Amino acid sequence: MARANAAYYARRDPFADFTTAPEISQIFGEIIGAWAAVVWDGLGRPAPFLLAEAGPGRGTLMADARRLLARVAAGAHAAAQVHFIETSPRLRAEQAARVPEAAWHASIDTLPDGPLILVANEFLDALPIRQFRREGGQWFERHVQHAQFVEQPSAEPPGLPDAEAGLDGVLEVNEAAEAFVTALARRLVAQGGVALILDYGTPENPGDSLQAIRARRPAEPLLHAGEADLTALVDFGAVARAAARGGASTQGPVAQGAFLTRLGLFQRAERLARGRTAAEATALMAGARRLAEPLQMGGLFKAMAVTASSLPPLPGFAA
Ligand code: SAH
Repeated sequence: MARANAAYYARRDPFADFTTAPEISQIFGEIIGAWAAVVWDGLGRPAPFLLAEAGPGRGTLMADARRLLARVAAGAHAAAQVHFIETSPRLRAEQAARVPEAAWHASIDTLPDGPLILVANEFLDALPIRQFRREGGQWFERHVQHAQFVEQPSAEPPGLPDAEAGLDGVLEVNEAAEAFVTALARRLVAQGGVALILDYGTPENPGDSLQAIRARRPAEPLLHAGEADLTALVDFGAVARAAARGGASTQGPVAQGAFLTRLGLFQRAERLARGRTAAEATALMAGARRLAEPLQMGGLFKAMAVTASSLPPLPGFAA
């Protein structure tokens, strides 16, 4: 999965295969910009600070967030130093076209020191999972051989909560996502800051959720290696445990629809729609609904915050 996705993101245009919230509506990035401004205020307005994004895709979210900050939060805009964590050279070039002032990193380890506000939208779902199956108390791990799944007996996967370790069935473990979150948590604790993770996922282990998307349709995961997007649902329970191992606290997960609605998604859409043509206004409202409605992206997608210390609820996380 790691090799297939590295080849995929390096060579193909992923946005021909799938679309993401910042590509659906400019309001998504604007709301995250506004969220970052409020969080920055709560952190005591550190200047400078790192405004970082993991897996920024086309750079659209950050461009929208930066534009919003420039307009309504000049202090945060001036203090923000933009850093991108991105491995694909192709997408780095697209990001540079929209956010030329950014600095690029291959991993979180090379971010410079300092207080950090980090966003990761649809990043963790692209990191490689391992799949395990338990039957009658015996664990098996699924491997890939000659483009087929083969199972081999294995030890119990490490770090499972008791409720998940004791049941027969398939489980997924995303060690890369957990390592990222633990490293993130450690640096938030050491240097201050807050992170916002948005992704499709479940509060507990999702079971067998590996999927491939190609040309906007589901594909067979083991066919088209490197030519289809391979993802798995994010296990937000595992994300919270990984953050705790790094000494950090978490808030959420809350449904993306609730998160965006609390932060004014529909008010902003109505505001933008004023003075536009009827067709433009309809498209703006449709985009907002697609992000928020439970049966579209508002329910399966969730938001989780990682914070250095336990804080009162952050914007969007209070009921
Ligand atoms: N956040 C963007 C793009 C999501 S697609 C959006 O919402 O539109 C996943 C992004 O993560 C792409 O930019 C991809 O190149 C990047 N990515 C995937 N695996 C990565 C890894 N191991 N390290 C850094 N970036 C990675």
